[in-house]
Amino acid sequence: METSTEGVAGTGSDDSAGAAAPAERTETVATEPTGAVASEPADAAEAIAAAPAPAPAVPPASLSPSRASDFMQCPLLYRFRVIDKLPEKPSEAATRGTLVHAVLERLFDAPATERTAPRAKSLIPGQWDRLRETKPEVVELFADDPEGERLARWLTEAEQLVERWFTLEDPTRLEPAERELFVEAQLDSGLKLRGIIDRVDVAPTGEVRIVDYKTGKAPRPEYAEGALFQMKFYALVVWRLKRVVPRRLQLVYLGSGDVLTYDPVIADLERVERKLLALWDAIRQATETGDWRPRPTKLCGWCDHQAVCPEFGGTPPPYPLPVRAPESGGTQQGRMGPD
Ligand code: SF4
Repeated sequence: METSTEGVAGTGSDDSAGAAAPAERTETVATEPTGAVASEPADAAEAIAAAPAPAPAVPPASLSPSRASDFMQCPLLYRFRVIDKLPEKPSEAATRGTLVHAVLERLFDAPATERTAPRAKSLIPGQWDRLRETKPEVVELFADDPEGERLARWLTEAEQLVERWFTLEDPTRLEPAERELFVEAQLDSGLKLRGIIDRVDVAPTGEVRIVDYKTGKAPRPEYAEGALFQMKFYALVVWRLKRVVPRRLQLVYLGSGDVLTYDPVIADLERVERKLLALWDAIRQATETGDWRPRPTKLCGWCDHQAVCPEFGGTPPPYPLPVRAPESGGTQQGRMGPD
C-alpha cells in the first residue's frame, strides 16, 4: 500500500468547520423504501369500523453514512429527505464536489505515468458535460449567468481543487483496487449498511486503505471524530463483508490541503456498530410514531426545508405513514454524537 503521501491530521483554518460541512456531492437521497402510506379516511362509520388496523410503518430498509448523519444532525431533516422525499435544489458546492470526484476517478483510467495535473484538469470539461447529461437539474445553477462568468469561476475553482490533490497524493504511485465502490452489508440485527467508497487501496500484504475525497476544508481537530464517522462506517461494512479490518482510513481535504488519517481497531468498529444500532432504534421509533423533532443548529442555513420547518414558522407536510402513540422516555432524538 502506498503510504508515503500521508499528511498532517486536520488543521483546517475554517472557523465554520466546527460543524459538519454541507453535503459536498450531489447524492441521491431517500432511496430506501418506507412503509405503507395511510389510506384516505372512509366516509361511513361502518367502513371505518370494518377497516383493518393500519399496518405499522416500516422504517427504511438501510442506512448510509449520509442519512445517519442527517438523523444525528436533525431528525426532521432525515424525515424530509427519507420519508417525505422532498426535492432539494442542487448547490454549487455539492455539484463541484461531484465533478471533482468524477475527475479524480477517471484519471486512474490513464497509465500511471500519465496521471498528471494537466491531464486531470483536461478531464473537467468532459466530466462537466457528462454531469449535465446525467443530472440535467444542475444546469439551473447557472441559468442566471448568461455571460458564463460565474460558471467560468466555478470551473476554475474545480481546477484548483484538482490541482491541490497532487500536493497531497501522488497518483503515479497508486493503483487503486477499487474506485467508487458500492458496498452493502447486513448486520445480525437485520439492519443493512450501505455506501459508496471513493477509493480502496490494497497493499501486496493485503492491508486495506479506505480513501475519501472532500472538496471542503478539514475540520478543526476537536471535530475530527465527526469527520471520521463516515470512514468508520465504511470500515465496519468492509469488516462485515470481508472479515478484514482496514489498516487505514484516510480523508483527503482538497479545500484546505489536509489529509486526516486514522488506523482503526476492532473495538472502534464494534463501537460504531453499537452506535448505529441505537441510531436505528431511534429512527424506527420516529418512523412509527411520526415524532420527528427539529434540531436547529447553524447548519439550518444550508437546509432546503426551512419553509416547512416549525423552527422557521413552517408546517411540515402531512405525515404519510400510519402512526402509533410515542413511548414515554424514548431516545433523545438527534442528541447522539457521531461516535
Ligand atoms: S431548518 Fe434546521 S431544524 Fe429545520 S429541518 Fe432543516 S436542519 Fe432541521
